[in-house]
Amino acid sequence: MNRFEYARPATLADAVAAGAMPGTAYLAAGTNLMDLMKGGVVRPGHLVDITRLPGLDRIERLSDGGVRIGALVRNADLAYDTDFARRFPAVAEALLSGASAQLRNAATAGGNLLQRTRCAYFYDMASACNKRDPGAGCDTVGGENRLHAILGWSERCIAIHPSDFCVPLTALDALVEVEAQYQSKLRPTSVPNNPEADPCANMAQPRSYRLEEVSCRTGLVVSTLVATRLAESQPA
Ligand SMILES: Cc1cc2nc3c(=O)[nH]c(=O)nc-3n(C[C@H](O)[C@H](O)[C@H](O)COP(=O)(O)OP(=O)(O)OC[C@H]3O[C@@H](n4cnc5c(N)ncnc54)[C@H](O)[C@@H]3O)c2cc1C
Ligand code: SF4
Repeated sequence: MNRFEYARPATLADAVAAGAMPGTAYLAAGTNLMDLMKGGVVRPGHLVDITRLPGLDRIERLSDGGVRIGALVRNADLAYDTDFARRFPAVAEALLSGASAQLRNAATAGGNLLQRTRCAYFYDMASACNKRDPGAGCDTVGGENRLHAILGWSERCIAIHPSDFCVPLTALDALVEVEAQYQSKLRPTSVPNNPEADPCANMAQPRSYRLEEVSCRTGLVVSTLVATRLAESQPA
């Protein structure tokens, strides 16, 4: 059994501080993380439960006409929010096209963006996977790869970004606000920036997010915490 410490911070500041410890994973609804832990694909030493953090479960209308989506807003709650769905129908439709009703009722906006790839070989510990075990090889390249990348792939990894939610966010020029030791805004993109980058650097999917201080055309913003490795890779 893989032993881990569990913490449930009461404030955002405490959650950010707890997340700075190496080997930490944030736990939202757990629909992806629990599968990964049960299969031994990831073995965090510290689990930081963010589900009770105040203020992250809100859909806020911004003064510039945009919307800020808290990291803990459930996928179904966002898709069925009448005002949001009227103004951002592509996002609502994408959310409803993903997973199942039960999963959408639980899964959070932050967890959706930061979920790991759904490449079957990644989840199968008997298969070679560079993303799970850097340098091991990639069984998908010569295997069952019909649903894998046709753009933005490398010889080392041809997995696609798993989030349906991320696709309209990219099209709508949305931003991801990050709470870490510093604050920053990222632009999500469903195509990796640098396909040649080492896939093991994608542990927290940093390749999927570009760090930019940018203005946002639609004002659509997803606020989230950020996984430690991404925080470490950014300038102070
Ligand atoms: C059977 C099945 C089918 C699916 N089909 C689809 C599909 O068709 N389309 C689709 O888009 N998705 C699909 N998914 C994925 C699903 O959308 C994700 O599992 C879900 O969105 C993850 O959200 P969560 O809140 O459960 O995150 P968790 O499982 O709790 O976390 C996922 C990851 O994100 C990190 N994390 C979570 N929240 C934060 C945060 N606020 N800040 C920093 N890190 C965070 C965690 O540490 C973990 O690494 C499917 C999942 C399953 C199990
Ligand atoms: S495509 Fe990527 S995630 Fe899938 S087995 Fe290859 S390296 Fe692993």
